[in-house]
Amino acid sequence: MRYVILSDIHANHEALTAVLERAKDLEVDRYICLGDIVGYGASPEAAVELVRELDPIVVLGNHDSAVLNEKEAFAFNLQARDAVSWTRSHLSEESRAYLGTLPLVRRVDSVFCVHASPLRPGKWTYLLNAAATVNQFSAFTEQLCLVGHSHCPLIVKMTEYGPTELRGPTEWLASDARYIINIGSVGQPRDGDPRAAFGLLDSDDGVITVLRVEYDVAAARERIISAGLPAILGDRLLDGS
Ligand code: ZN
Repeated sequence: MRYVILSDIHANHEALTAVLERAKDLEVDRYICLGDIVGYGASPEAAVELVRELDPIVVLGNHDSAVLNEKEAFAFNLQARDAVSWTRSHLSEESRAYLGTLPLVRRVDSVFCVHASPLRPGKWTYLLNAAATVNQFSAFTEQLCLVGHSHCPLIVKMTEYGPTELRGPTEWLASDARYIINIGSVGQPRDGDPRAAFGLLDSDDGVITVLRVEYDVAAARERIISAGLPAILGDRLLDGS
C-alpha cells in the first residue's frame, strides 16, 4: 500500500492544495491524516472539507480538540488561543461534528497513528528527538508509529542497541527494527524550511520519504492577516519558524 501522510495542516488552504496537487502523481492508495486539521490558519472550513473528501485514516489533534472543548485551549499561548476561538466561530456545525468523531489513535496495516505520542495520546507530549522517543516504543506493537505535533520531520529507528535519528528524506525500513516517524507539517512547518511537508509510505517496499512542496506562502499569510488573526501566525509561515 502507498500512503500519503498529512499532518498539522492548520487550516492552511494554500499549502494543503499544493500538497494534494503533488500527491496526484504519487499513485496513492490511501491517505493518513495525523491531526491538527485546524487552528492557526484562516481556512478551517476548507481544510476540513478537503480532508473529508480524502476519506483518510485520521486522528484528533490538540487544536482540533481545543476547538471542540474550550478548556483544552487554556494550555495554549495567547495567539494559539485567539486562533482557536476564531476557528470555533468559522467552522460549520457539520465540520465541528466531523472533528468530534476523530479518535486519538488509529491502527492500520503495521502502522500506529497518533497526533502527539503513543504513550499518552491525550497529553500532547512533544517528541523532538531520539532520546524523547525511548519510552514510547513500549506503547505500541506495530513496526511503525506515525506522529505529528512538533511540526518538524524526525525519523527514529529503534534496534536492540537503542534509538538512532535518521537523516532522511528517504529511508528504507529494516524489518528487524521499529520506527517513530514525524513527516513534518503541511500548513505550518517549524524546521526553518517554509515549504509544506508531507510523507509517502510504501508499506510493501518498506520505504518512507519526507517530501517538500513550495506553495503560495504570501497568500496564506495575507489570508491570516485579513481575517484578523494574530499577524505572527502569518509571519512565521515566511521562514518556517
Ligand atoms: Zn500542530
